[in-house]
Amino acid sequence: MHYNESLPPGATDWLSPVLHEARERNLCTRPGCTTCGSTEFMRLVQSAIDTRLGCVSKRERERRSAEVLAQGLACLRPTPGTEYPVGAIELLIMTVRAQIPFERPSTLEGSWAENVYERMLRIDAVRAERYRAHVEANDPVRVEALRAAKRAARQERHAEMLRRQRERSIEWHRKHGPPAET
Ligand SMILES: [Zn+2]
Repeated sequence: MHYNESLPPGATDWLSPVLHEARERNLCTRPGCTTCGSTEFMRLVQSAIDTRLGCVSKRERERRSAEVLAQGLACLRPTPGTEYPVGAIELLIMTVRAQIPFERPSTLEGSWAENVYERMLRIDAVRAERYRAHVEANDPVRVEALRAAKRAARQERHAEMLRRQRERSIEWHRKHGPPAET
């Protein structure tokens, strides 16, 4: 593999430390992993990017995003012929609620979106009650045992995948570039 040994002018190699940390911690980096979505690894990457951008913490950014989103929702005024996609409104309200879970965003007050919000709260209450009844009807000990078994099997498959990933990485570096020191 041929490449320029020197970095582009003015560039900093911020990604290498992230990748080294991922390898040391053996984080899952499998593209499209259905078990963990490589969330741990991507969180590491994102926080390194945030640091470089001089951004606030992820949590703070998400909270501010939710406020901006609530403001956007508060400005919606559907008219006949220009209806909004229902799923989109609900999805965005859920996004707001994930960040501001217990209080109603004041920005929504008196808006059309607040009505949608109210309706979703009522549906949630019905669903929560149904779920509670369902849980009560099932023996919690049995349910927990089943869950634990599933969880263990899933974790075992994931661990096995990580072992293979590590082997593949070593093999890949053997073929493509400076060898891994492992
Ligand atoms: Zn994974």
